[in-house]
Amino acid sequence: MTVLSQHFTSPPPAVSFEFFPPKTPEMEQKLWQSITQLAPLNPSFVSVTYGAGGSTRERTHYTVGRIIGETKLKPAAHLTCVDASRAEVDEVARAYWDAGVRHIVALRGDSPTGGAYVPYPEGYRYSSELVAGLKKIGDFDISVAAFPEKHPESPSFDADIEYLKQKIDSGATRAITQYFFDVEHYFRLVERVRAAGITIPIVPGILPVGNVAQVKKFSAMCGASVPAWLETLFDGLDADPATRNLVAVTVAAEQCRRLVEFGCDHLHFYTLNRADLSAAICRILGLRS
Ligand code: FAD
Repeated sequence: MTVLSQHFTSPPPAVSFEFFPPKTPEMEQKLWQSITQLAPLNPSFVSVTYGAGGSTRERTHYTVGRIIGETKLKPAAHLTCVDASRAEVDEVARAYWDAGVRHIVALRGDSPTGGAYVPYPEGYRYSSELVAGLKKIGDFDISVAAFPEKHPESPSFDADIEYLKQKIDSGATRAITQYFFDVEHYFRLVERVRAAGITIPIVPGILPVGNVAQVKKFSAMCGASVPAWLETLFDGLDADPATRNLVAVTVAAEQCRRLVEFGCDHLHFYTLNRADLSAAICRILGLRS
């Protein structure tokens, strides 16, 4: 218990939670149960993703609108450059500004068909261009993506850092990382960005793993590695969700403990619209509603 008791002597980190816009009334109900359960932890913000190719454009907007209208939470709307001209993306951003949204998570997005990414004609090519475009529309607080294991299309870590600098020069004030399981990947990223003179917060993205098979499939696409130790921990638990959840919380809480020890004062949770795992991890970190 030494390790757990240590959490109560240091101030808990700030947290934020990511949700995705629901497709069905049942999913909508689950999302709102999750938001209601996590809201008392006073997250710095809650973000809502934007589906590939703008496929969730209306649903993202609707969800962000409900958060503004029905809660005291600060929403961050994700926005991508995929399959839309600059004028179309700008129109979405203006609608957010008019609705009172002041925080955008600005991303390039990926090819909706899974192939190589091709910028849309007259569209923003990279997230740095999107950030610059957003800043012309309003003085948004802008978060961008960072990649502890390198963006899969990037030629090198150095290139990644260079492009991160471009995003910051365009107006981004915070980076949120892709999820990772070995904290050393995050530590190395922070060392590299600080050595390059970048001072903005690099907020680690935490994915509590409920289902390792699903995570493996997704990780192959987004360039995050799934270590053998993680797979071993979930071996034989396919039909045992209760034990999987206990393992998920234990693994993520230990990851968070090491990040806090490293100096992280803000953790971002990929909730996948379920509150239980993130809520339990936050409690272990000393957060109280
Ligand atoms: P960019 O910064 O544009 O980089 C993309 C690639 O282009 C990289 O390889 C980079 O090295 C290269 N590059 C950048 N600038 C230049 C340049 N000037 N010249 C040449 N090459 C360059 N996707 C969604 O569809 N919806 C979401 O809601 C969403 N949310 C996310 C949230 C977080 C926190 C993260 C980490 C990712 C999210 N993604 C989302 C996934 C993201 O869209 C993909 O990872 C995408 O492949 C990269 O996005 P980016 O903003 O980093 O792109």
